[in-house]
This record gives sequence, structure tokens and C-alpha cells, in this order.
Amino acid sequence: MGPIVIPFELKATFLRELDEGLKKARSAFEALRVTADDPVALDEISRFFHRIAGTAHSVEFPTLGRVGMLCESLADFLKECDGAHRGKALELFADGLAAVEELLDEHRASSAERRAPAPLNAQKILREPTLSRVLVIDDDPFSAKLVDTCLRAAGFVSASCSEPEQALEIVESELPDLVILDVVMPGVDGFELCRRIRKNPALAFTPIIFVTRKGDVEGRVRGLEVGGNDYIAKPFDPQELVARVRSHLQRLAALQDMAIRDGLTRCFNHKYFKLRVEQELARSRRYHAPFCIALADADHFKFVNDTYGHQAGDAALGRLANLVVAGVRGSDVVARYFGEQFGLLLIESGLKEATLVTDRLRARIASELFTLPEPSDGSPAPSVPMTVSIGVTEVQATDTVESLLQRAGAALAEAKSAGRNTVRTATG
Ligand code: GH3
Ligand code: MG
Repeated sequence: MGPIVIPFELKATFLRELDEGLKKARSAFEALRVTADDPVALDEISRFFHRIAGTAHSVEFPTLGRVGMLCESLADFLKECDGAHRGKALELFADGLAAVEELLDEHRASSAERRAPAPLNAQKILREPTLSRVLVIDDDPFSAKLVDTCLRAAGFVSASCSEPEQALEIVESELPDLVILDVVMPGVDGFELCRRIRKNPALAFTPIIFVTRKGDVEGRVRGLEVGGNDYIAKPFDPQELVARVRSHLQRLAALQDMAIRDGLTRCFNHKYFKLRVEQELARSRRYHAPFCIALADADHFKFVNDTYGHQAGDAALGRLANLVVAGVRGSDVVARYFGEQFGLLLIESGLKEATLVTDRLRARIASELFTLPEPSDGSPAPSVPMTVSIGVTEVQATDTVESLLQRAGAALAEAKSAGRNTVRTATG
């Protein structure tokens, strides 16, 4: 992946908003000259520099970011220091403010006339399917937009929300794949929001990454304690942000995959199979699309276990699963239904086609000698023939998941009675 490029428009927005902030910061500074411990003025200035410290570096103004950090510390110092030091602190502060102004002047000229990007529509963007969807929650719209831009540049579907009070509702309705959460927000802070998100079982495993102030160890620890998974310190590096998001999403995808697959064969598990059959049933009702269910059961599998051991049986099942998966279309669903029985969901297939496919699969399995693992006594690895019996049925208008599976099971029982290594169909 190439480096994350911060769009010019975003930098222009940053500078324009900074310009507006600077006016307020200047009048706050004038108020401080009169009353050096004016709490409202101190707060205004502190907020102004806090924002520069948190974002300037990420939009490629590192020097400005450093000045912001120094002045933020100075504002904090001014809140606490006694009268004797205030005069000196105010002088330093004036220097800091001038330095920011100078830097702004350099960049403002070329950027200010560009238009700001259109506001985001979190609801709309998050509905885009398939790609990983990230929600950025930060009460500062610029900060949120900055993170959002970096994520989009890296190919994620991202949206931002700058209203912490509405954030929970959006998270619960949209169920994003990952949440990036600012800690310091008015009304409901990031920690509280995280706690509320975690209460929803559907969001129990959604990765949550906190955005904390650099060096805020206490905040990081608290974030992890309330259910967060990671943190990014402001000012963040866009490459690091994207790398962390990607790593959490990959881990989540691996976990989700584990939850729906069988450990031995790597086919889908029973629960997922039934869920997919249910979904396909609904789709079929809506679009009148055909589909078939097949149950394929290994013949006399007990014999393999009894003769060569359970481990050899496991290996045979693994190979059998590979053959079943290879024998159907990639869009079909193959699951380990029970022990040595596989469930097949043959999408967009009528009974005729499904019978052809399953009979070809049956013949393919019967044509192979399964090589089992070498026995521990050093004798050569045994090769055994294996066959399967298969029951197939096609969906009918009145079917439920249970009636479908029951019919496929009845067809399978018929195939067994008919002597095994055969395919039998059941019509509704
Ligand atoms: P049939 O042709 O009637 O299906 O005979 P069968 O021997 O295949 O059926 P039966 O139900 O008598 O035995 C199935 C065997 O499959 C017994 C069970 O221990 C074995 N089995 C189920 N799951 C696994 C597994 O994960 N690994 C191994 N090694 N064996 C398994
Ligand atoms: Mg069997």
C-alpha cells in the first residue's frame, strides 16, 4: 500500500478553521492581559492549542503541531501557576501565538480560497455493503474528518459522527465493523460511550480504538478497562492509524470466520448452514429462484475408524471435505452437517442439475483411493476406497428449513437402503 495522501481540501479546511479559532484566541489573550487568571479566556486558548496539537501534525504541519503542543502546555501552566510567574508565562504565550500566526500566514495564502469538502452523511455511507465499515466518533468535526479521510484513502468505507449524544444510536443501527472513539467529548465522553456500546451483544466484539492525547497513560489504561481494544495517540500518524485499523479488522474477520467454520474440515458449521438455508429460502420466496439441498454421508465410515484409528478417520474426513467443496460451485455452500455427513446448499440449481452435480461428486469420490496417515508401527500408509450416499431435494413454495432438511434426510436414508454409493432425490 502506498502512503496516505492528505487531500489539499482537508488542509485548506484545517487552515480556515484555524484562522477563525485564532481570532477568538487573540481576544482571549487580550482578556488575559487584563486578568491573567481569567478562567474563560484560559479555557478558550487551551482549547485552541489543544486542537492544533492534536491535528496539525497529521495534516502535514508538524512544526505547527509542535508549537501547538508547547502552547497547550503553557496554557495549562497558566491555569496553575502563581502570580509571580504569570507575567513571564504570558510573554512566552505571546511568542507562541505569534509563531502560530506566522506559520498560518505562510500557508493561508495558497489554500484559503479552496472550497471545503461537502459534509458527510454517516447513515448513507455506512450502508455500502461488503467493504469494512468504520465509524469515527469525535465531537470536533475536523478531527473526525481527518481520521475519516485517512481511512477512505486506504480503501475503507468510513463515516464520521460529531454528535456524541447521537453516536450510540448510529452505532446500534449501523453496526459498523470498527469504531474510532475520541475520549474527551462534551455530554457523554468516550469511555462512557464505549461502556454503552459494549452492553449491546451485537457489538460485543466490534473493535473500538480510542484516540487519546499523547502521553495520556491514564486515559489509555481506562480505555482498555472499559472495553476498548487499542488507542491512537494524537497527533497520530496516518500510516499508523490505517495499520492499526487494518490489523484489528483482520483479527475480527479471522474470529468471525472461526465462528462459522468447522475446525477439522474448514467447511462451514451446522449452525451457519441452517442460517444460509434460511436466507436462501427467503430469497427464493421473493425472487422465485430455485435451489436444492443435498445431504452427503460417508458410507461405512465407522469401518475406517475401527480399522485404522480415529486419527486416520479424521484425515479421511478432511480429504472428503476437499472433494465435496471442489465438486460444487464456489457460490454454493458446503457445511459439515453432522459427524461424517455434509450439507450442500446448491444455489440457483433445479433438481435435475443438482442430481447431475451430486452424482458426478459421488462418482469422483468413489474413484479415489484415500491415503491415510502412516501408522505409528512404521508400516506403509494405507489407502482405502470411500463412497458417499447422497439425498437431494429441491425447494418448494411451502417449505420451511426443517421440511427441506427432513426431505433431504429421507432421500439420504433411501440412498443408504438402496445399497449406498448412490444418489436419491425426494420431491415435495
Ligand atoms: P453408514 O453407511 O450407515 O453411514 O455407516 P457409518 O459407519 O458411516 O455410520 P455410523 O453412524 O454407524 O458411524 C459413523 C461414524 O463416524 C461413527 C463416528 O465415530 C464417526 N465420526 C463422526 N465424526 C467423526 C470425526 O470427526 N472424526 C472421526 N474420525 N470419526 C467421526
Ligand atoms: Mg455414514
